[in-house]
Amino acid sequence: MARYTDSVCKLCRREGQKLFLKGERCYSDKCSVGRRSYAPGQHGQDRKKVSEYGIQLRAKQKARRYYGVLERQFRHYFEIAESKPGITGENLLRLLELRLDNVVYRLGFASSHAQSRQMVRHGHFTINGKKANIPSMRVRVGDVVAVKEGSRTNEFIKSVVEANASRPIPKWLEINREALSGTVAVLPNREDIDLSVEEHLIVELYSK
Ligand code: SF4
Repeated sequence: MARYTDSVCKLCRREGQKLFLKGERCYSDKCSVGRRSYAPGQHGQDRKKVSEYGIQLRAKQKARRYYGVLERQFRHYFEIAESKPGITGENLLRLLELRLDNVVYRLGFASSHAQSRQMVRHGHFTINGKKANIPSMRVRVGDVVAVKEGSRTNEFIKSVVEANASRPIPKWLEINREALSGTVAVLPNREDIDLSVEEHLIVELYSK
């Protein structure tokens, strides 16, 4: 599978905001967004007039990079979102929020989406007691996502969970810290999703 291998901080600088791609560093003063608040590259500091298409593209790239989803997968989510009743942009963000790797990250069981994805692939999580090692698995209301029993004593997992214990948990999830598990209480609403993006721009981009 194609994989982005350059510095992920460049992605945040390109989008002009923190995308929290590096775990603890993102919450420290080492974060590149604060230190170099201009786009990367030779022309990063040039002032350019951005076209309507450019604005829509940036909105899409921001959401895609935040969730760590490839273009083809992202468009697939858009197609599902479009086919569902309701507001397409909100449907799209909801689908992305309900990915297993995102839920693991939101519960504070991983420091970043990338780390969460890797931990899921390594088989450290279950959904309703069953092995779940596909990051894109979609969780549903009532599903219980938990650290696998055999992984609860894993020193690395314990340290990650401890490091992220103070991160706020969105209100659509209920966490059981003792059991290292979380339940999807309700579907997330737009206001529960803390990604600052104008999702209607993504819809406009894909609707051309
Ligand atoms: Fe983005 Fe985190 Fe790097 Fe800051 S430290 S630029 S939030 S990936």
